[in-house]
Amino acid sequence: MDKKLEKILPLVQKPARYTGGELNSVIKDKNSVDIRMAFCFPDSYEIGMSHLGIKILYALANAREDTWCERVFAPWDDMEKKMRENEIPLYALESGDPIRDFDVIAFTLQYELCYTNVLNMLDLAGLPVRAADRQSLSPIVIGGGPCACNPEPIAAFFDLFTLGEGEEVNNEILDLYADCKKRGASKAEFLRLAANIPGVYVPSLYSVRYNGDGTVREIAPADGAPAKITKRIVRDLDGVFYPDTFVVPFIEVVHDRVTHEIFRGCIRGCRFCQACFLNRPIREKSPETINEQCKVLCRNTGYDEISLCSLSSSDYSGIEALLDKLLSWTPEEKINVALPSLRVDNFSDELLEKLKSVRRSGLTFAPEAGTQRMRDVINKNVTEEEMLETARIAFSGGYSAVKLYFMLGLPTETDEDVEGIGLLAKKVVDEFYRTPDRPKGRGVTVGISASSFVPKPFTPFQWEPQATREALLHKQQHLKETLPSKKINVSFHDINTSFLEAVFARGDRRLSAVIEEAWRRGCTFDSWGDKFKFDVWMDVFRDLALSPEFYANRARNYDEVFPWDHLDYGVSRAFLQREDEKSKEAKTTGHCRLHCAGCGANQLNGGRCDV
Ligand code: SF4
Ligand code: SF4
Repeated sequence: MDKKLEKILPLVQKPARYTGGELNSVIKDKNSVDIRMAFCFPDSYEIGMSHLGIKILYALANAREDTWCERVFAPWDDMEKKMRENEIPLYALESGDPIRDFDVIAFTLQYELCYTNVLNMLDLAGLPVRAADRQSLSPIVIGGGPCACNPEPIAAFFDLFTLGEGEEVNNEILDLYADCKKRGASKAEFLRLAANIPGVYVPSLYSVRYNGDGTVREIAPADGAPAKITKRIVRDLDGVFYPDTFVVPFIEVVHDRVTHEIFRGCIRGCRFCQACFLNRPIREKSPETINEQCKVLCRNTGYDEISLCSLSSSDYSGIEALLDKLLSWTPEEKINVALPSLRVDNFSDELLEKLKSVRRSGLTFAPEAGTQRMRDVINKNVTEEEMLETARIAFSGGYSAVKLYFMLGLPTETDEDVEGIGLLAKKVVDEFYRTPDRPKGRGVTVGISASSFVPKPFTPFQWEPQATREALLHKQQHLKETLPSKKINVSFHDINTSFLEAVFARGDRRLSAVIEEAWRRGCTFDSWGDKFKFDVWMDVFRDLALSPEFYANRARNYDEVFPWDHLDYGVSRAFLQREDEKSKEAKTTGHCRLHCAGCGANQLNGGRCDV
């Protein structure tokens, strides 16, 4: 270990975040590889090490003989300070080598409020933050993950983005890079060639013109770049690469277990839900494959918990067969099975029976809205009766704590809809006391968690305004004041962070200047409440004469050109518009198993959806 690093590690919190050397981390001989790659998660070690995507793509890159991929996380501010004081550049955990000397620096972009951390990490590495100021072929800075669906606010900082799933496209980029490096190609040539790999977006090859009212007029490609970039998907989840081991951290991280993805996409189509539409078409992995992969992962990591993850786990068509398979060996090996992301309307007695043998933490449901009208607007196809029936089954099965997730500020929401949240929670409380075989000697706790609605690209609500901060504050107060029972507690997400998230989610390239300036004025870790400097952000918007309300609180016309209109995630704009129009009449669309609503995403998979 570097001497300077050795000196500072005892002086910072949780030094194990920065040492590397964990079980299963990959060490290679740097002289025998062609590509050094840094896979960066722009948040703390504990959050990044819990993320499944980084585990998959780290193992995928390291499966190549010509590549050594290492992990990098955002140093916490105490560590950053010491690194800057001691002139230690940002380094990769496996080798300890500075990442500025690497060939490829890839960031996964999971949420908008990590953007300043990306800039901070590039700067800590000793690199210019703007792509135009990094002239040589190495390092190439790549972004991927959900925020790549509208990367325009951060377009100035990245050389390229990958759209959709990375398992195939990442290898194609690395192949091209290896070839370009071997023959001494320039960065410009590499980017021109990369732009022709399906699913790769090179923002510097597109120019944006604006209308007088500030909306986008045109996004024009140059140098042979395609006019539309379509996201990549993996067609066969059983055949696709999956790691046989995970790096096991020395310190506790948020999810310290084997996480296994059981399917991609969601059949439901809730109109606010970006994850649903970004990840379509629906593709399932078979119970046999999942079971075998879980066995191998448990053996290679020593973990005693498997978490089956997806957007809506009880919609997985093989859920009972899978639980049967897993429960045939996990109890003997003292391994727990956890099943988050359950929906409320298909939670049967039989599933509950099986869940009794899996780990039982509190039960969480996401009705999202308190009244049936509001749930119809957002296409949350679940009725009050179904929710109460599920609560009854859960209470009979021994649960006594329920957490309910709601959103405030949804399109068309009235005070009555807000009051409906408390009334629904009260009905859940009453259901507990009406359930004859409820857990005895225990009271019920019902917690409401209310976030603020953020309109996102590629959803039917992409045209809708976010409620103003004043309106959201009123809604929060109204909910608190009208809560009908003391057994219900309520917590709220911070309105200001949701506001900024809304600005960047549908922002354009002009926001790169705002992000850079806010970072220069000290903004980092914006998703961490105690570090979020909202006043600084507002000062920057004012100083750069850009209105955040223009991005967050403005309703869009159906013919407006969006900053992300040159990107294609499979779901057609016509379908999204139809869904938005239906929402205004509180008309629902049934889920994909009832009938295909023609969203268009199956075209990416040869016309197939696993429904
Ligand atoms: S059930 Fe609704 S909210 Fe949940 S992932 Fe599916 S579409 Fe999204
Ligand atoms: S193509 Fe049809 S079945 Fe497939 S996700 Fe879209 S609406 Fe659902």
